[in-house]
Amino acid sequence: MEHSLADLNTRWSECSACGLGISRRARNGSYIPGVGVKRGIMFIGSGPNEDDEYVGRPFSGAKNLVDMAIRKHGIEDYYLTNLVGCRSCHPAVSKNGEAIMTVDGYGNQVQQVRDEIPLPTEMAACKERILNEIWLVDPIVIVMMGAEVVKTLTGKIVTVYSPSNEPIDIMVPGIWEEPVLTEKKQAWGRKVKGSYIYPTRPMPVKYIGIPTMNPEFVMGRISSSLPGNPREVWDRHIAKALRIYNTLIQEANV
Ligand code: SF4
Repeated sequence: MEHSLADLNTRWSECSACGLGISRRARNGSYIPGVGVKRGIMFIGSGPNEDDEYVGRPFSGAKNLVDMAIRKHGIEDYYLTNLVGCRSCHPAVSKNGEAIMTVDGYGNQVQQVRDEIPLPTEMAACKERILNEIWLVDPIVIVMMGAEVVKTLTGKIVTVYSPSNEPIDIMVPGIWEEPVLTEKKQAWGRKVKGSYIYPTRPMPVKYIGIPTMNPEFVMGRISSSLPGNPREVWDRHIAKALRIYNTLIQEANV
């Protein structure tokens, strides 16, 4: 576990533990670190996209819903990051397997590259990083954007577009250790190969997570027939996160 965000980003920016890191190196792309302030509302998306990689910052798209929500709700203390640190994208091909071409800024024909939601294996490979980042940022509330983000962080499968989404606990390994007790006698010390051992494990720290939809999903379905307008439901989820944040901040200041 790293003890500063700078150390965390230095370590993971060179990572190639999953296919996204290998593709990042091949494209000469970049690892995208989180940005923002500690002890605020933390927004976690699934992964950086083309705009993010170009600008070097999460949620950089021109029509970005996250920025709009932050402005609309007047959220001042926030942190933006993604479940995976590297962009997930693949060369675009048509239904009959042919490369889909486009013209780059120099007038050259190049194959289009499409952003995609990272695979569960890629999210699992980056889980240690995001848990470490949560612990370092120590947010009051976390907004989990997308079913795959919720599942990776909490192990739960939820209907992320439900207007009545309730908070879910996110357990993050902390810095302190706790004793591991035996199942039957609840004893700490135990004899292994003639010697006593006293095993410990990182004591988990509990964070409050609000499930919501992936912002790209919301932008693409503003006029869809899903129950409730996804944009309105998304706004309700952000408002709920802000309410919880304000309540906890007030309680802490009493
Ligand atoms: S996505 Fe995460 S685990 Fe995969 S290469 Fe990038 S930093 Fe490493």
